[in-house]
Amino acid sequence: MPFERLNLIEPIRRTLAEAGYTEPTPIQKQTIPYILKGRDIIGCSQTGTGKTAAFALPILQNLVIQKLPDTERMQPRALVLSPTRELAIQIYESFVTYGKHLNLKAAVVYGGVAKFEQVNFYDTGVDILVATPGRLTDIMKDGVLKLDKVQVLVLDEADKMFELGFAEDLNKVFQAIPYERQTLFFSASMPPDMAKFAENILVLPIRVDIETNSITAPKIRQAVYFVNQHDKKKLLFHLIDEEEIESALIFINNKKEADILTAQLNAKGIKSMALHGKKSQMSREKALNNFKEKHIKILVATDVISRGIDVENLSHVINFDLPSSPESYLHRIGRTGRAGARGFAFSFCSKAEIKSLRKIEELHSFSIPVVTNHPFYRRSDFEDNKPTYNQPKRKQQIEEPEMLPMIPNVAYPEPQIESESDIENRKKRSRIVKKDQVLITNNKKKKETDNKEGVKE
Ligand code: AMP
Repeated sequence: MPFERLNLIEPIRRTLAEAGYTEPTPIQKQTIPYILKGRDIIGCSQTGTGKTAAFALPILQNLVIQKLPDTERMQPRALVLSPTRELAIQIYESFVTYGKHLNLKAAVVYGGVAKFEQVNFYDTGVDILVATPGRLTDIMKDGVLKLDKVQVLVLDEADKMFELGFAEDLNKVFQAIPYERQTLFFSASMPPDMAKFAENILVLPIRVDIETNSITAPKIRQAVYFVNQHDKKKLLFHLIDEEEIESALIFINNKKEADILTAQLNAKGIKSMALHGKKSQMSREKALNNFKEKHIKILVATDVISRGIDVENLSHVINFDLPSSPESYLHRIGRTGRAGARGFAFSFCSKAEIKSLRKIEELHSFSIPVVTNHPFYRRSDFEDNKPTYNQPKRKQQIEEPEMLPMIPNVAYPEPQIESESDIENRKKRSRIVKKDQVLITNNKKKKETDNKEGVKE
């Protein structure tokens, strides 16, 4: 199905052609027609599937065709909330790229930098505002930003926003935006409390589930290395020597260890930088940009950038430590193998981490091939931990690291036309949420102030 069938206007189609996009991805096919019509969306999908364009393209189109004079474009009409600073910047950049032939203004606000540097749109006006929830509510207190013109709200990576303790900030945003609006809700997972929250804020949403495994996992060659914790660095240096690693994103769970490892890599002449929540915003941005622009070979990071971040031609993701939550594994490895490229995801697993490994395999219903023929494998330490999954499947996986196309060959329904009764029902249902109604409650203890703006550590 070509982009033409999605009813996108010519300047947007031109941008897509320039970007080399020939066909919409499944999530784009399934959501764009509905978003253009103003419907609410609830989507279970990760980044890496073309999700940003799925919401950005129709939002840009819906805004531009209103042809409002500049005087009526002083306050945002589209508000996009993102859990982390890095993702917010990336979404903002996507809006700028996709909207380059449109006369629309986008801005981004996030913590860690001076507020005054970010609010220059107060004078120039803004159509699309991308924000992290903490910084947004901070700016709202100043009383200059008004959200009463917001027509469309996007909650991206909603589960991560909950996890980071942004619930109160989200409540404040809901109080400030109009009840009559379009809401696009994306979450990588949909546990019951998330589904309940979504039910509260959405009106007859279109549900879109994009199987993450079928998109992310098959084109990434995965391997797990059994290795004792104290041998992990030696193994890492060995792999850097042996494997053709063009660029690697190394995930490590401890911030201090991230700095130490970075220093050791640099001492060996391997250009590296660290990115974690204890770094200033400026050095976080510098590290990410240097990595994206290939000025450095290795970025050592904590989970703060496990989601959403798009780095072109990232050949390797290395889990120096396994993530504490099994959900994070797919997010992390999804940084490689993006947009159809081939990628490798290597995970180091110490004896103490085997439980985490099994949880990852259980959650994602796949077995990760184990590599034991490396110089730091101590058989006696891992003997009791024979893999429980079936060996032939593993073999097949490792022997066939075939690159699959970004768009899996699955059947997905053509967008349905809303029936008369659907429309009637939708109109009847009130989207009014009473001001005093508590929409969300934090199910987790609110993190320290430092943890706001996505510095989840
Ligand atoms: P996202 O899931 O939005 O982070 O997108 C992942 C990557 O896919 C980004 O590098 C996009 O530029 C790219 N992308 C998005 N849509 C398409 C498409 N229709 N065809 C090819 N690449 C795409």
